[in-house]
Amino acid sequence: MLDGFSFALLGRDGGARLGEFRTPHGVVQTPAFMPVGTQGSVKAMRHRDLEEAGAQIVLGNTYHLYLRPGDQLIARRGGLHRFIGWPHPILTDSGGYQVFSLAERRKIVEDGAEFRSHLDGSLHLLTPEGAVDIQARLGSDIAMALDECLAYPATRDVAAYSMERSVRWGGRCRKRLIAIRAGDAVGVGITNPGQAQFGIVQGGVFQDLRDQSAAATTEIGFEGYAIGGLSVGEPIDVMYGIVAETARRLPPTEPRYLMGAGTPEDLVECVARGIDMFDCVLPTRNARNGQLFTSEGRLNIKNARYAEDDGPVDPACRCYTCRTHSRAYLRHLYLAGEMTAGALNTLHNLSFYLDTMRRIREAISFRTFDKFRQEFLRSASRLSLDS
Ligand SMILES: [Zn+2]
Repeated sequence: MLDGFSFALLGRDGGARLGEFRTPHGVVQTPAFMPVGTQGSVKAMRHRDLEEAGAQIVLGNTYHLYLRPGDQLIARRGGLHRFIGWPHPILTDSGGYQVFSLAERRKIVEDGAEFRSHLDGSLHLLTPEGAVDIQARLGSDIAMALDECLAYPATRDVAAYSMERSVRWGGRCRKRLIAIRAGDAVGVGITNPGQAQFGIVQGGVFQDLRDQSAAATTEIGFEGYAIGGLSVGEPIDVMYGIVAETARRLPPTEPRYLMGAGTPEDLVECVARGIDMFDCVLPTRNARNGQLFTSEGRLNIKNARYAEDDGPVDPACRCYTCRTHSRAYLRHLYLAGEMTAGALNTLHNLSFYLDTMRRIREAISFRTFDKFRQEFLRSASRLSLDS
């Protein structure tokens, strides 16, 4: 076992798992939601707001940090934790997803992904080894292996070829990290010796490919496993089915991370299928667009019906936004284009997501998760206030 990182399963209720993992920067209780801090910052949030909302870990995007301000510069500042002033756990992605979704003129070859920066057009090659080196310099607590992100829909042949490449890249990532840990990698300083590495299961919507990928990825051996390439446009029941079957094929003793999902309902449904960790831009991005998640469903704060509504966004929420401001005021701030609109809305949405995770953990510990799940789904679908 890696010194500095460990995972303990503390309880189960049906398929749902209660646990915690220890990192060099503290403990994270699972199931956990990780707010997305794209450029070393969760948009519109100060770190103390994140702490107050209950965030135990945040996600940093390697692609963005590599291009600006640069992983070498961050390493010289003592690593990402010190640079951004967040002393708690951080997970970094591999950069692959942004190369596929943001970069211009990308070309995928066996060696890696060649792309042009979306900032200045400069040419870069992201290899599996390079993705490991960049994350070693950043010093996150959990680093992700580089995988190939498959577009949806994809034929079975394309999905199979891509999945096999992701397995090869995963093997190269593991080999590189082992070399770095042994001090055999020239030119890579280790910022965080206790950094764990997660492998990623791919295979699109084809369960047999997912099975092959899960077997090959666990054969390589990582500290945890992610399910990637879902929540990309496939029907929801297909996603839930793949999650359930794939989670079943991952080692029960390691954490399982569903990448890029999802709605509050997705979190509850995928916890029920054995997932321990989530990340998604939905609560933060939608907050900036005026969409708020509440215990009674979603609402759009710009809607005229809130113009003279003196009530809080969510009467059941204890966040600063709900304790202090009315829907009428938040609507005014949004329409006036005030910066505080984004900040207050984001604080509420993240508080709702993180409080949902806290309630999920509580329900699993009391073995009342199924009851919680039924009630949550019923209330989440009740509000058809705004589409
Ligand atoms: Zn609130």
